[in-house]
Amino acid sequence: MPFRAPVSDYQFLFEHVVDLQKVIETDRFAEADKDVIDAILTEAGKMCEEVMYPVQRNGDLQGAVLENGVVRTSPGYAEAYGKVAEGGWISTSADPEYGGMGLPHTITTAVNEMMSASCLSLQLNPLMTQGQIEALEHHASDDIKAVYLPKLITGEWSGTMNLTEPQAGSDVGALRSKAEPNGDGSFAVTGQKIYISWGDNDFTGNVCHLVLARLPDGVPGTKGISLFIVPKFIPDENGEPGVANTLKVVSLEEKLGLHGSPTAVMQFDGATGWLVGEAHDGMRAMFTMMNNARLGVGCQGIGVAEGAYQHALAYAQDRTQGRSPIAGGTGTIIDHADVRRMLTTMKADTFAARSIAMACAVAIDMTTATGDKECKARAAFLTPIAKAFGTDTGIAVSEMGVQVHGGMGFIEETGAAQYARDVRVTAIYEGTNGIQAMDLVGRKLMDGGEAAYRLLDEIEANAEEARDTFPELAEPVWEATETLRETTEWLVSQADMNDRFAGSVPFLKGFARVLGAHFHLRAAMGEGEYGARTKLARFYITRLLPEHGGLLAHAVRGAEDLYALSPEDLVA
Ligand SMILES: Cc1cc2nc3c(=O)[nH]c(=O)nc-3n(C[C@H](O)[C@H](O)[C@H](O)COP(=O)(O)OP(=O)(O)OC[C@H]3O[C@@H](n4cnc5c(N)ncnc54)[C@H](O)[C@@H]3O)c2cc1C
Repeated sequence: MPFRAPVSDYQFLFEHVVDLQKVIETDRFAEADKDVIDAILTEAGKMCEEVMYPVQRNGDLQGAVLENGVVRTSPGYAEAYGKVAEGGWISTSADPEYGGMGLPHTITTAVNEMMSASCLSLQLNPLMTQGQIEALEHHASDDIKAVYLPKLITGEWSGTMNLTEPQAGSDVGALRSKAEPNGDGSFAVTGQKIYISWGDNDFTGNVCHLVLARLPDGVPGTKGISLFIVPKFIPDENGEPGVANTLKVVSLEEKLGLHGSPTAVMQFDGATGWLVGEAHDGMRAMFTMMNNARLGVGCQGIGVAEGAYQHALAYAQDRTQGRSPIAGGTGTIIDHADVRRMLTTMKADTFAARSIAMACAVAIDMTTATGDKECKARAAFLTPIAKAFGTDTGIAVSEMGVQVHGGMGFIEETGAAQYARDVRVTAIYEGTNGIQAMDLVGRKLMDGGEAAYRLLDEIEANAEEARDTFPELAEPVWEATETLRETTEWLVSQADMNDRFAGSVPFLKGFARVLGAHFHLRAAMGEGEYGARTKLARFYITRLLPEHGGLLAHAVRGAEDLYALSPEDLVA
């Protein structure tokens, strides 16, 4: 079945739900008017349908392999990547001074989501490069920018991100990779990194690794970490790939899914690298890349949810089974109430997750355009929610997609299972969803809850505005927001961080449920009383929003009872 890029959904969402208008009214993004944005979305959608989607199954059936130290990518990936790069889809938001389009990050977020829906494994490559471009734009010296940015922006070279080591996963500060000054401004980087996405490929002229390592005088922990750019081929005096660096792919991981994306164990043996940003300040520079990637990974989940939903919907419209309870006679499974429940849940949650991600992207753009502190705090607050809820939605929706297919969902031929396998890792990489939730109740509530309360005030004001037209939808949204406010106040008042952490995941999920209801309500307001979006909003608010009650009750239990069962009790 073909993939249909959801371009009209973004257009509606930008106009009625997340107010992209305020971004394009700023001087910074003045050139990105509605016509430009519509053209970009339409062209990107076409590229996803015609170039990326046709190679999605290849990645699953013939994953990347390592042959004599060289990575061979899946059939068709090189050609598809060539077209992605040629179309400028890697660098829609990059700095025009170095060849980027300088468009709002919101547009890149929509394009990334469509690319993820059409071929997640391949999309991960440009996502890594985009993060690297942003990190270099913000933190690298002019010399490094001049050599690397133009080639990363055109996609001639690709970028990777090297944090993880066997003993340093979530705890990045435990890393052991070292960097010694060479005396000529460069450094010798030594260490092993694991799980490196797109650690190598056979279609870009160079692979540029951003590597976290410790200088000889770096203190233990995250404060002693520095960031280095370490290319596969060292650029010559003309900035072209020169001699091979002393680094290699040791092996590729055998994975549950995402087989088209080579996940490498990388060995750096005194490899030549250059410092990005200040010495010992690598985490700050890497955070630029990671924040971008967190929203990007959230959108991977949403993209897969979209793809899995389209797949399941087409199957449900075609598969006949049993008597139709609404039309009588033999019917397709879409007529059965439970199948309708699954499909509507899939659509409603995908919309909620997409709206949260786009609201986060709008806050990022407003920060870029105005430097406003409240916008910055909004973006920071929404990032872990967008990442965790986007990826949880991708997992839940693709799993439901398998269920809609019945037995055929378990049979690889339909492709339904691929979505579920591929998307699973998105809740794990870029900071597990547990770590995202801890960030939300920890760092993101360090302002005493200010950013959260500002958001809740807006949700309530919007619900008040909706009362005249949709009283039965506005009231539950307003009430849920009050419960969420009380939960937030409870969390903020906990001095013991472990009491916050114990409730962090249900809090994040509960927050996302309420945000989703708010955005559905806005969609209903934008559409008017009788449209399909209003019906979807009614479904979400009456059937899915009530979950917030159980989640938020869980969030305020504290840590003590979690430890009531000892490890020995768990074994017994
Ligand atoms: C396919 C794939 C691609 C990847 N790509 C990259 C890449 O390109 N670059 C890169 O650097 N890394 C990459 N990673 C690594 C990824 O980011 C890590 O796997 C992830 O950060 C988790 O680290 P870990 O696997 O060591 O798990 P652990 O840190 O051991 O975590 C195990 C469990 O414990 C929980 N946990 C750990 N610490 C805490 C804590 N303090 N509080 C509460 N819970 C905690 C976690 O949430 C998780 O549930 C990739 C991984 C995979 C599988």
